[in-house]
Amino acid sequence: MFRLLRTSIVYRSAFIVLGIALLVGSFFALFSYQFSAQSEQEQANQRMKGSLSTVESTASIACFLLDQNLASELARGLLKNGDISRVLIFSDDKILAEASRQPAQNQANASLTILPDIKTPNQLEQEIFSPFNAKEKVCNIRLDPNMDFIREQSSSKARFIVYLLLVQALVMASAVVYVVLTMITRPIKNISDRLHTLSPESGDKLSLPDGNEKDEIGQLVRDVNMLIANLLKTLNEERSLRIRHSIGEKKFQTIFENAETGIFQLNFSAELLSYNPAFLRMFNLTDAHQRGNLSHVLTLMLEGQELRLHLMIDAAINESKVMSDDFYIQLGSSSQKKWINLVISPAEDGILQGLANDITERKLKEENANQLAVTDHLTGVNNRLGFEKEIARLSTEHANAHAQGFFLLMIDLDKFKQVNDTHGHTIGDQVLCHFAHIVTSTVRKSDFVARLGGDEFIILLQNLTQQSKAEEIAQKIIHQTSQDIVITDGVSVQIGASIGISYTGPHAFDPNDLLRRADTAMYDVKRSGRNAYRVVSLDGIDTTRHII
Ligand code: GH3
Ligand code: MG
Repeated sequence: MFRLLRTSIVYRSAFIVLGIALLVGSFFALFSYQFSAQSEQEQANQRMKGSLSTVESTASIACFLLDQNLASELARGLLKNGDISRVLIFSDDKILAEASRQPAQNQANASLTILPDIKTPNQLEQEIFSPFNAKEKVCNIRLDPNMDFIREQSSSKARFIVYLLLVQALVMASAVVYVVLTMITRPIKNISDRLHTLSPESGDKLSLPDGNEKDEIGQLVRDVNMLIANLLKTLNEERSLRIRHSIGEKKFQTIFENAETGIFQLNFSAELLSYNPAFLRMFNLTDAHQRGNLSHVLTLMLEGQELRLHLMIDAAINESKVMSDDFYIQLGSSSQKKWINLVISPAEDGILQGLANDITERKLKEENANQLAVTDHLTGVNNRLGFEKEIARLSTEHANAHAQGFFLLMIDLDKFKQVNDTHGHTIGDQVLCHFAHIVTSTVRKSDFVARLGGDEFIILLQNLTQQSKAEEIAQKIIHQTSQDIVITDGVSVQIGASIGISYTGPHAFDPNDLLRRADTAMYDVKRSGRNAYRVVSLDGIDTTRHII
């Protein structure tokens, strides 16, 4: 029952309407009951008065003559009125006649001189006057109402009205329930049942209930249909959007998978979050066993350059900039060096996206071009530009106090012009190449050799503080250069080398001054006979050594 009331609007509305009808009906029934009981009592009173007025003239004669028989007859006559339970006709203190529905008191006894009962509020009493003198009172008639009878009468009438009202309330309530049920509740329930099984995807709509086309229920059905149509439209739009989105995603996935550029995502700690196959190929991580956890692969591969990577990430995040830089990576053997260009840009929620491109070829070309620019084409050692760059680098290094002392050897070949003049420039060139070979094979790989032009060469003996070592190298060069150089069978030339040596310690230095001092020393050697070296040492004591 309670479940039905909770779940069924039909039952609930019927129950409420009936409940209200019963409540209101009961209230009105109670009110009517009270009212009809009261009015019945008044009517009984009126009827008693009517009976009294009917017998008034007879009573007047009976009392005037003190005729007890007539008075008793009259009392009994009055008693026929069911509303009266007792009739008392008395004059002064004498009872002329008394009639009552109780048998003991039924006899009129005119001889009795008892005082009449004290009048109660329900009793009706009328004075009777002489038939000859309207002002002479001859007796009183007192009527006691028959309360049981009156009550019985009034309650049967009231009951009838109550039943009538209750039946009316029930009929009205049933009519209301029926109307509500057929005109409102049932159409709404039908709509609800239909909605429950409706499948809007197949174009289903609610049909308009007959007779409700123009009323609120019709409006409700139309609104629901419109809502369904809008919902369908939105669903279709969303579906096509989803399809377009998934096609787009597939396209991007294909690009991501097949791109030659490495595409990756990383967080602000440079931990790798995702990557495409090209990224793995670029970093030689294609073997499955090598992959494992690749989150720290970038910092591991860019060992020694992590600071630059983190600076790029910081700038990308803090300044929302696209950052780009070149990094080299060492793959396997030392000869396998790769150059990778990384482009990093902020994506979302602290995540960055990156592109990696292999720029090894371009870098090698650049390196070659740079190398060519600083290389002497004839001898293969550095040229003047190369020397200027190297001395500038050393100057910066010394200024930053990151360096050790080094020696600068300024060399000019002796009597080289004669070779040109005697054997031609080509032979002269060969002699220059021969000398370059002597120098490079005498010094360490880490030392720097350059041909400044003509027959003038420079050597930088780096990270060397022992003057004796520098002198030893100068001696070796002078000795080997002074040996006969065989050009062709039976043809040989002889040249010499004059060397000026200057030195600078780990402190900052002036390149021009260093050069000038070596140059001066070298020309001093020239002036003093050539094929020798001169050292401009730190303590200012110049020494010249002739190698024989
Ligand atoms: P000194 O002993 O005083 O040094 O005199 P030298 O004969 O060596 O002549 P010097 O150093 O004054 O001049 C160098 C010569 O080298 C001058 C020039 O003709 C020649 N020369 C300069 N560049 C080249 C070159 O590329 N190839 C050849 N074969 N000769 C060159
Ligand atoms: Mg010379």
